[in-house]
Amino acid sequence: MDRNALIEILQREGNLKHSFNTDEIKSLAEYVSIEVIQAETILMKKGEPSDSMVFILDGLVQILDGERQLAIEQTGAIIGESLFSEEATRVADVQTIEPTTVGRFSIHDFENFLGQNQPLALKYREYFQAIRRARAEQFAAENYSDKRKYLALIAHNNMKESLMEFCGIHTNKLETFPLIATGTTGSMLYKKTGLCLSKKVASGPLGGDQAVGTLISTQNICGVIFFRDPLSSHPHHADIEALGRLCDVYQIPFATNPQSGEAILDYLISGKAERELIPNQVLQTYVQGQKKVVEAG
Ligand code: PGA
Repeated sequence: MDRNALIEILQREGNLKHSFNTDEIKSLAEYVSIEVIQAETILMKKGEPSDSMVFILDGLVQILDGERQLAIEQTGAIIGESLFSEEATRVADVQTIEPTTVGRFSIHDFENFLGQNQPLALKYREYFQAIRRARAEQFAAENYSDKRKYLALIAHNNMKESLMEFCGIHTNKLETFPLIATGTTGSMLYKKTGLCLSKKVASGPLGGDQAVGTLISTQNICGVIFFRDPLSSHPHHADIEALGRLCDVYQIPFATNPQSGEAILDYLISGKAERELIPNQVLQTYVQGQKKVVEAG
């Protein structure tokens, strides 16, 4: 690829054309060097100092966080603009998927550019910094992970009054937790006790119990108070069983009536749960076993 082709791609592909005119793009191109990179080559490594950025002129690259693919980028994309961030450190790995032609713009190229045409070089720096900020915000939004540990409150219909009474008595204690509840229980809780929920999932029979189970598997539940009605049958019996089972897998305190509810409330408030006195043998054994399955495969 020659310099004219480089200019043409920078003008035609990507977003440079929206912020820079033809002459400005030609000026930038003078400082960009063309490289052909083989397939499956690591172009940038997370954590390493950032000393250059690249324009993808032809080919495909993937942005990786460990084994997780964050994005695939193609012709016209700008990669490595962390060069212009304060940390100037790579924030992800970049690997070519196929033979890829890139235009490299290093910190020395930028300094030369600055020496020759300071206003334009600064305009480019501002542009690359804006891309970097937008990408960082997008990444943060897409990778938001909830670190809270909720206390789940659930009651079958015949037990709802009982749970409301329980919550009325223990409002002060309950308020110290981020609370989560299934749909109907949650709506009644607010109405009858004024307790505010941090999260409400679907009604139990509509998947709410499973949603709480999912949060157990992501370490977001510190306890479950689920007043079950032992004298009726329930269409979502399997979900109720599954929720109880997950509490056992992750050793989450699980109370099914007012007395055990009071006991686990006091236990959680005591902070003993965080000290994890008894190792979770079941889980550890299973995780070790699964590692061996992967190794053998
Ligand atoms: P609900 O669900 O709070 O929506 O009534 C509870 C359940 O039956 O699991």
